[in-house]
Amino acid sequence: MTAAIDACPAVLDLKWVNGFARLGPDFCTELQPTPLPSPYWVGRSRAAARELGLEEYWLDSGDALAALSGNQLPPGSRPLASVYGGHQFGMWAGQLGDGRAILLGEIETVHGPQEIQLKGSGKTPYSRMGDGRAVLRSSIREFLASEALHGLGIPSTRALCVTGSDALVRREEIETAAVVTRMAPSFIRFGHFEHFSYRNQHTQLKTLADYVIDRFYPACREARQPYATLLEAVSERTAHLLAAWQAVGFCHGVMNTDNMSILGLTIDYGPFQFLDAFDPCHVCNHSDSQGRYAYNKQPNIAYWNLFCLGQALLPLMDDQDQALAALESYKTVFPQSLEARMRAKLGLIDAQPDDKTLIENIFRLLASNQVDYTIFWRRLCGFTPQEGHEPVRDMFLDRESFNAWALQYSERISITDQGLRAHLMLGNNPKFVLRNHLGEEAIRAAKLKDFSEVNTLLTLLQAPFDEHPGHERYADFPPGWAASIEISCSS
Ligand code: AMP
Ligand code: MG
Repeated sequence: MTAAIDACPAVLDLKWVNGFARLGPDFCTELQPTPLPSPYWVGRSRAAARELGLEEYWLDSGDALAALSGNQLPPGSRPLASVYGGHQFGMWAGQLGDGRAILLGEIETVHGPQEIQLKGSGKTPYSRMGDGRAVLRSSIREFLASEALHGLGIPSTRALCVTGSDALVRREEIETAAVVTRMAPSFIRFGHFEHFSYRNQHTQLKTLADYVIDRFYPACREARQPYATLLEAVSERTAHLLAAWQAVGFCHGVMNTDNMSILGLTIDYGPFQFLDAFDPCHVCNHSDSQGRYAYNKQPNIAYWNLFCLGQALLPLMDDQDQALAALESYKTVFPQSLEARMRAKLGLIDAQPDDKTLIENIFRLLASNQVDYTIFWRRLCGFTPQEGHEPVRDMFLDRESFNAWALQYSERISITDQGLRAHLMLGNNPKFVLRNHLGEEAIRAAKLKDFSEVNTLLTLLQAPFDEHPGHERYADFPPGWAASIEISCSS
């Protein structure tokens, strides 16, 4: 078989449209990725590859390895780094931009346009003091987390693969380099708009807003105030995203405006964490000394970030009131969306006035008893009215308070079809989440070139509501050492 020749058409057939590149030099710098020395596969998401229309055999080829680590350019691609700004930890940080991510371009797929981006593929004009690289550790975390959130049904950028190299990279210690190949309809952030607004480049600001509306929010074009309507639509998507994060116990860790997607996707996985024991004040980012991005602050921070986006879009609106009115949608959609998700987690088929109290009460108990968040919800799927459920009760030190709640819950669900309730709950309470210690174990093995744990986790996390018999240990309580894992911004 002439593998190399045969392998090419799968990529050659890709229809590159490269819309972002056509915006021109005010928006990006066209440049080539820096090759990754002697790359090897660390992990591949065949599900993500299928969405792009990539052939299975191509993904196993040397051509794929070269293309997806930035060592060979797919014909038709037009690589670039984009410029954006952002508020970091509440302060305007000025110009940032793709300092280590290179957009290969955008391809047409049956699911619509998808941009393909290499993260860690060398310096760009926006690298500032950085080396343009990403380390194996953080690339594995981003790869698994993107596919995990997608598996949970939460909007996210996807990850096609991670390729590693023995090339050394200096962080707190010496580590090795890797590239994570990401995909999304667009990687445009709130910060892209802020960049042009802060520089009073209103023509470019409008060009960017029109680009986003035409491609992703076409209904806004019909509205009387297209840009205010865009802000409203982004606010709604962000509200649903935050509700999904809160419901599943996901902490992003660095909700700076440059890490907020204009499409309401989870983007830029760094020091994120899925909660172990439920602690509303949990801060997953070791560099976040003020706790700005604590779990329970995420919804308000998202609003703060939307406010920054609104401010950036002001030059395209008639007055400030338009922006404020558009932002209001976040305040109504977020609580509604969260309550709907919590109702599904509890297996409540319809809405009742007392549901809010039932939800608030269980959250209070989860916090005061430091109950493991994921395991609690999964075990609750087996709860039966009146009889209760020992495995759930055993998770609470304060049995009396739990019994009182269980009584309230039993009454609420007594008239529900129990089979239907269990079915709803099992599809809304995952068995498997990417806990820090699981990621850590996979990273340790990968550093020794054993990628089996990365692959096992990928399989579990892509179908997190399934039982996966024989893999119970991945759904178990975290070991004692998990609490001492420190994840910082360094990646
Ligand atoms: P992050 O905190 O990962 O969202 O990154 C914030 C900014 O720093 C973005 O502009 C990144 O492109 C840039 N950056 C982070 N790490 C590096 C690196 N190793 N080299 C170049 N730029 C980087
Ligand atoms: Mg970022």
